[in-house]
Amino acid sequence: MKYRELKRCNNIKVSEIALGCEGFMKKSKEEYKVMIDKAIELGINFIDMYISNPDFRDNLGYALKGRRDKFVLQGHIGSVWENGQYLRTRDIKKTDTAFKDQLKRLGTDYIDIGMIHYVDGLSDFEEVFDGDFIKYCLELKGKGIIKGIGMSSHNPIAAKKAVETGYIDVLMFSVNAAYDMQPPDEDVEQLWNPENYKNQLINIDKDRQELYELCERENVSVDVMKAFGGGDMLNAKLSPFGVAFNEYQCIEYCLTRPAVVSVMAGCKSIEEIEKAVSYFNVSSEEKDYSAVLSKMEKFKFFGNCMYCGHCAPCTVGINIADVNKYLNLSVAQGKIPETAADHYKLLKHHAGECIECGRCEKNCPFGVSIIEKMKEANKLFGY
Ligand code: SF4
Ligand code: SF4
Repeated sequence: MKYRELKRCNNIKVSEIALGCEGFMKKSKEEYKVMIDKAIELGINFIDMYISNPDFRDNLGYALKGRRDKFVLQGHIGSVWENGQYLRTRDIKKTDTAFKDQLKRLGTDYIDIGMIHYVDGLSDFEEVFDGDFIKYCLELKGKGIIKGIGMSSHNPIAAKKAVETGYIDVLMFSVNAAYDMQPPDEDVEQLWNPENYKNQLINIDKDRQELYELCERENVSVDVMKAFGGGDMLNAKLSPFGVAFNEYQCIEYCLTRPAVVSVMAGCKSIEEIEKAVSYFNVSSEEKDYSAVLSKMEKFKFFGNCMYCGHCAPCTVGINIADVNKYLNLSVAQGKIPETAADHYKLLKHHAGECIECGRCEKNCPFGVSIIEKMKEANKLFGY
């Protein structure tokens, strides 16, 4: 297992593969325990808990007994259970009751990430951030009941606005190559609407790209939902692209987006947990999503670095994907952000070492003018 840091939450380390909660549903408490045992064995230490179902909370509490400290828990604020069903609310009284219920059933006195549940609409954004809801979250953080504030969203506009408030430490966002081509919409259903894939699409949507770059600059960590598009990305008949990815390519795609720290995999069984974690043992060819993305006829990623790493190895050892990432962050900002300067400095080899051999350009499936990019980065960073 590999780990990445939640930079705005005391650099807590979270596993790159984490558990979404939907895989736990309809299981007995003993089965929860077996799943948690397996997670510990494989090094998974991060769990999302958007479901407000009391059984889920009770069973997870049972499975975590005596080992709560082995996990970073992401609990949702504003996800409640009423009349036997899940609801989203902005009512503070109901929110508080549900949050306390979560603590009690889990048998803990703190939640690591208090995630403002599901903000896609801009009017909802205003209700949350201009009203009592954000005050409630800040109060929880001030008391140490949550260590960081998060927000879950599918809409890059709402997510960008939330990050810009400065309150958000962690963003849970829906990421996969298909969603990334779609323009922002308040209606999540539009992301999978076949109508929206009828015409040619080119490159990552501008707002989504800006969101990832903003999060990276501001040290806001992104954890991913919908990495497999609910499974559709893995099936050529169901995928909006009409081509199938494998699980490893989907995970690799997410983990190479700027700011992403972790992929929440909705594993339903021990075998599915093992399969997700086997990502770390498979060859780079099996993870290489560029093999799928670069061959699509109708949907094209071209001219912009996807950070896929397919151009490696560079003759002199430059990590081209990382250089391009820090260059793009700086160009988008109009100046070099401190975070990009620090990360660039830590690279073993820098753009200034490029000997213009052209080997990388032959390997780049997305037609990136890498030599020009290295010159640009050398000029900008000065080495
Ligand atoms: S330059 Fe091309 S091959 Fe290299 S990381 Fe970027 S997109 Fe991938
Ligand atoms: S052209 Fe520059 S960046 Fe590309 S492989 Fe050669 S030395 Fe490396």
